[in-house]
Amino acid sequence: MVGLLDGKKALVMGVANDRSIAWAIAKALADQGAELIFTYQGERLERRVRELAEQIPGSLLFPCDVSRDEDLDALKLVLDQQVGALHVLVHSIAFAKTEELSGLYVDTSREGFAIAQEISVYSLTAVLQRLRGLLAKEGGSVITMTYMGSERVMPNYNVMGVAKAALESSVRYLAEDLGPDGIRVNAISAGPIRTLSAKGIKDFNSILKIIEEKAPLRRNTDPAEVGDTAVFLASSMSRGITGEIIHVDNGYHIMG
Ligand code: NDP
Repeated sequence: MVGLLDGKKALVMGVANDRSIAWAIAKALADQGAELIFTYQGERLERRVRELAEQIPGSLLFPCDVSRDEDLDALKLVLDQQVGALHVLVHSIAFAKTEELSGLYVDTSREGFAIAQEISVYSLTAVLQRLRGLLAKEGGSVITMTYMGSERVMPNYNVMGVAKAALESSVRYLAEDLGPDGIRVNAISAGPIRTLSAKGIKDFNSILKIIEEKAPLRRNTDPAEVGDTAVFLASSMSRGITGEIIHVDNGYHIMG
């Protein structure tokens, strides 16, 4: 079978377990012929991510905590040595302290604000500083993950909503900076999906219920739908698209 991504190499950052959106994306990219490289945050997660990576034969696996410059530099070094060119980068990483994801946004601490911005926003820029050369070799597609809490006030999303707004703005600035090198930068704004990160958001179940009732397609987002959109963004089918935020939320974002 001819795949849309035959011969492409994709780096996927942000697999924590088999519920991670990054894992759904990885499977969809691999189904279309992409070769995969995974990163995991630290030793704590290595075994779990290794077991998943082994399900996709030929995958490579490297550690990378995006808050550590030495990890990012080491990632660049090992990819420069082992990968001729990189075609796809999936950034599916975010973090906020649990205590910042309930109550009032106005109570956000200085430290909580900084951590959310550093891990959820700056990390994309920090990674691209190192990997833009590899992505520019044959042209590349960068995909990050965002949520509608950037555009509208969603209860309890608080500091992460502000971080996602900054991430979406970063997507536009990065698209302009890297466009001349043939690198496209886009985000998928996914509807809520039950993952490890979502556990931190208070009243997540009631959000899922409302979406099932109100989204135009009357259902919640299946991670495989996000994976298929990532395939589109990774492939030359989307070659005219950069700096874009694509909603994959069964239409919920259009509702008043
Ligand atoms: P996961 O918890 O499965 O994925 C989040 C990933 O971020 C984990 O792999 C986590 O690793 C990683 N991460 C956090 N801090 C660091 C760090 N310092 N260095 C490297 N990796 C780090 O949840 P999701 O799949 O839900 O989240 C993926 C992305 O999708 C996030 O950007 C999220 O905001 C976004 N998103 C999620 C939605 C949802 O409803 N689930 C909806 C829309 C967007 P670790 O576990 O080790 O911390």
